[in-house]
Amino acid sequence: MKFDFLIVGSGLFGATISCILKAKGKKCFMIDKRSHIGGNVYTESINGINVHKYGAHIFHTSNRLVWEFVNSFVEFNRYTNSPVANFKGKLYNLPFNMNTFYQMWGVTTPKQAAEIIALQKKESGVANPKNLEEQAISLIGKDIYYTLIKNYTEKQWGRKATELPAFIIKRLPVRFTFDNNYFNDRYQGVPIGGYTKLVERMLDGIEVRLNSDYFEDLDYYNSISDKIIYTGEIDRFFNYCFGHLEYRTVHFETQLLYGVENYQGNSVVNYTDAETPYTRIIEHKHFEFGKQPDTVISKEYSKEWKLGDEPYYPVNNDKNSKLYFRYKELAEKQDKVIFGGRLAEYKYYDMHQVIEKALMMADFLL
Ligand code: FAD
Ligand code: UDP
Repeated sequence: MKFDFLIVGSGLFGATISCILKAKGKKCFMIDKRSHIGGNVYTESINGINVHKYGAHIFHTSNRLVWEFVNSFVEFNRYTNSPVANFKGKLYNLPFNMNTFYQMWGVTTPKQAAEIIALQKKESGVANPKNLEEQAISLIGKDIYYTLIKNYTEKQWGRKATELPAFIIKRLPVRFTFDNNYFNDRYQGVPIGGYTKLVERMLDGIEVRLNSDYFEDLDYYNSISDKIIYTGEIDRFFNYCFGHLEYRTVHFETQLLYGVENYQGNSVVNYTDAETPYTRIIEHKHFEFGKQPDTVISKEYSKEWKLGDEPYYPVNNDKNSKLYFRYKELAEKQDKVIFGGRLAEYKYYDMHQVIEKALMMADFLL
């Protein structure tokens, strides 16, 4: 065998694990079917602005080792995510906090806000939330649910909020302080110079072949290494033998606005009404506090995935979870192949979780 490991996919899972394996003297070879490295965190420079090609990516973690790991390749800035929601022209702060409660109800104290939420929760009669709608109302009441959650969620997932799992909305903090930080994690930021630079440095010294689909030359790729680390879709690996897992895909309408220095004053503005066809607008320069004379914005549209589209979000409802476990059973019987990352594990992982898992997997393999 020419290599100890073939790594299929140059996203953060593949990049992290190969970087550690290489540092321990293992011979690694990486392929990616895209024309660039980095998977979904890939950024490209347009007029000096690092554009998050596959959507807004903000790094956050409470794991010091993960934070130190990424900072050993590139410096991170102090960016703190504070998206704003636009509902029919009125702006609200996110995540749900005292600023939002003031904007929604005019309340100025945590006690007043908590009373309104408790009353709305009681009126809804939800005791044991079983889906996203019930979970949201019992966390935050019906006014915020109908203004900031229901339409956005249904646009993003293409399903009724009553048909979605409750855990999705538990990602968002609810705070009774005036704090617009979207995350609770101890560390947060964006790599100065973009994520591509981070991944390039992680892959330093590793042979990478782009525009190469594992399945297009399966016998060859299987023959060149002892072990394979696979980070693509798990159902594709098994030729969809049990059927297709569902994903949501997104597409971006990106525009370079010449002579516009500041389009929306924030990197992320969510459109939480049902009529606006996109879910959010990203203004990329604000991730790195850019002062360029122009700006780049991306309108993000969400739609159901079909074969040939990029899979972005696994749809972790009951039906897909059951199907995934059937594939997982097959995966566990593969001696030569290790499955890891958002697509191969069919999990709604954030970047820090993917890195954490890859570091653990590298330890295990070594
Ligand atoms: P990917 O990045 O998907 O990489 C998989 C790679 O494998 C791809 O490059 C693909 O081309 C390649 N591949 C697949 N099949 C094959 C094949 N057959 N042959 C060769 N190559 C193949 N996380 C955060 O922490 N903060 C955020 O703010 C955040 N925002 C997000 C916004 C959006 C819109 C999305 C979709 C995700 C966001 N995430 C965020 C999550 C983050 O993108 C993922 O956790 C992370 O990128 C997953 O890395 P990965 O290596 O598992 O997968
Ligand atoms: N969400 C919402 N309104 C918003 C932002 C988020 O209802 O303005 C819901 C939506 O269901 C989304 C979930 O909260 O899927 C998690 O949001 P997050 O911003 O973490 O989603 P991601 O960054 O993964 O797109």
